[in-house]
Amino acid sequence: MSKLPNVTTSIFTVMSKMAAEYNAINLSQGFPNFPLDERLTDIIARLAKENVHQYTPMAGFPPLMRQIAKLVQSSYNRTIVPETEILVTAGATQGIFTSILALVKTGDEVIILDPSYDSYESPVLLCNAKPIRVALNDDYTPNWETIKKACSSKTKMIIINNPHNPTGKILNEDDFLQLEKLLLKHPDIIVLSDEVYEYITFEEKHISAHTKDFLLNRCIMVSSFGKSFHITGWKIGYIVAPEHLMKEIKKVHQFLVFSVNSISQAAISEYLNVVDVNLLGKFYQEKRDYFQKLLQNSRFELKPCEGTYFQVASYANISKDDDITFCKKLITDHGVAAIPISTFYSDHKDQKLIRFCFAKDDFTLESAAKKLCDI
Ligand code: PMP
Ligand code: GLN
Repeated sequence: MSKLPNVTTSIFTVMSKMAAEYNAINLSQGFPNFPLDERLTDIIARLAKENVHQYTPMAGFPPLMRQIAKLVQSSYNRTIVPETEILVTAGATQGIFTSILALVKTGDEVIILDPSYDSYESPVLLCNAKPIRVALNDDYTPNWETIKKACSSKTKMIIINNPHNPTGKILNEDDFLQLEKLLLKHPDIIVLSDEVYEYITFEEKHISAHTKDFLLNRCIMVSSFGKSFHITGWKIGYIVAPEHLMKEIKKVHQFLVFSVNSISQAAISEYLNVVDVNLLGKFYQEKRDYFQKLLQNSRFELKPCEGTYFQVASYANISKDDDITFCKKLITDHGVAAIPISTFYSDHKDQKLIRFCFAKDDFTLESAAKKLCDI
């Protein structure tokens, strides 16, 4: 008997594989295709010959943990204690999985807001707990009335994702007020705030859970160096949580990975001395604007994008196919890969929407747009 009977290969893997098979331009899975910052490649090349190849301490390479504390201080004006409140993880994925496994028990309920990223539900199921999928409003704002109704004495955790994959939406002050009210009523609920796109925001900066006093003692913050430094393949990120939660999370981490690969921890801790994360938003805003301009004469209708490197588009003017069929034909007939949005919903509702990743060099965006404008 499978422990996860409904889980199949992730849509990101399926679409990337199909893109490769058909030699299509891959705007599906979210990863950049341009070269890394040379300062980072220089650091890692030098470190390869230094003494940084053995286990680091379980929770992370101490200089990196101090750098993370500095980063959180400068980005959010929050003081954290590296030894007790930070855990370096093998990507945000492992941070999410480990946190859920450590804190969610049999019979607990976890609120997940749809459309939702695919890493949240399976760890909940593996804890013999129940994922409660609550739909966002049509404009992708949270529906606090339905979230309130979904909460009960069984609710252990609410997962928020801000900026939001796939919709690019960010939460506003009123959302945090509503969340605060809800948490006041339910003192045992903890929040998992997936902020892997924290530095990829455009006209407006997102509001981080780090900046909300009411969350500090009951929230796990998830970050990804993969997203912030264009190194998704390095699989490195970190979580920040109050000591009483982190103590439990570290118990699981210790046996899941023990410690994260040492050379990337050492490289990132040095790189953090020279890189300015505040430039990332402008960098990706230019890509978003360029991609939107290239598509302005296409028959796709582009949705607003406040953050992340994803652009949601409606193809309702082009085809009546469901979004999975449309994405497959987009690869086979037109040579561009995208992600169908229905896969982010528990009921797989088809809204004729697909997601493009614009973390690509200009040539790739231009070549893809040319094909998309011909449809
Ligand atoms: N959360 C969200 C919302 C994501 O889009 C991703 C994909 N990168 C992750 C978590 C996982 O991040 P990582 O690659 O660092 O595991
Ligand atoms: N986060 C990436 C995306 O949304 C996918 C990462 C993965 O393939 N697991 O495209």
